[in-house]
Amino acid sequence: MHTQLAPGITQIATTKRDHAFLVEGDDGLTLVDVGWAKAPGALLDTAAALGHHPSDIRRIVITHAHPDHVQGAAELRRRTGARILIHEADRAWLEAGRVPAEGRSGALGRLIDRVPKLHWTPVPADGTLADGELVEGSGGLRVIHTPGHTPGHVVLFHEPTRTVLMGDAAFNRGELALGPAALAADPALRPGSLARIPDNLHAVGFAHGAPLTGSGVDTFQDFLRTLTTD
Ligand SMILES: [Zn+2]
Ligand SMILES: [Zn+2]
Repeated sequence: MHTQLAPGITQIATTKRDHAFLVEGDDGLTLVDVGWAKAPGALLDTAAALGHHPSDIRRIVITHAHPDHVQGAAELRRRTGARILIHEADRAWLEAGRVPAEGRSGALGRLIDRVPKLHWTPVPADGTLADGELVEGSGGLRVIHTPGHTPGHVVLFHEPTRTVLMGDAAFNRGELALGPAALAADPALRPGSLARIPDNLHAVGFAHGAPLTGSGVDTFQDFLRTLTTD
């Protein structure tokens, strides 16, 4: 299942409630996040339905190295030939195939990261993403480093359409929220990171939860403001 979030940006369901995003650029397509191990099939089926060949996906931008965002990365890289890009601070996690023992602030988080089902095939990064960088060939995706959920978490701001792709910097499952603190690396950093997201947005895409457009975007920007004024 897929939804057009903004011109050139398609939200693709990788499970019933999780999403990745396909962005049309000046050099092929950029995929933002992959998903669980079974996601590559759904992603490539949707890309095909939209008229794209697997090799049209030139790069995979990973918002952060958690299993629900990277487990399918090794297979998708093999099937597309895409380059994998991630922030330097999450790179070692991606390449280790699991969240390290100290990667979450709470005991619950550290416990779940020991579960083999939440590990993944280690994937080498082909390049890194720096704060403020425009992802080359992406058609205008600007990297915003938003540490907290993980040290190297990034939000992608699509400048031509003023759309943000939030990764796990915020969730919209029933209500807007930052997610459980125990599952974040450094939860105290999250409000400051979110304060860096621009105003006057047109649309907001979430890895987990329904996208926001129209008045929903105003609600989202109010939510961001309450985080920094509390
Ligand atoms: Zn996450
Ligand atoms: Zn996630």
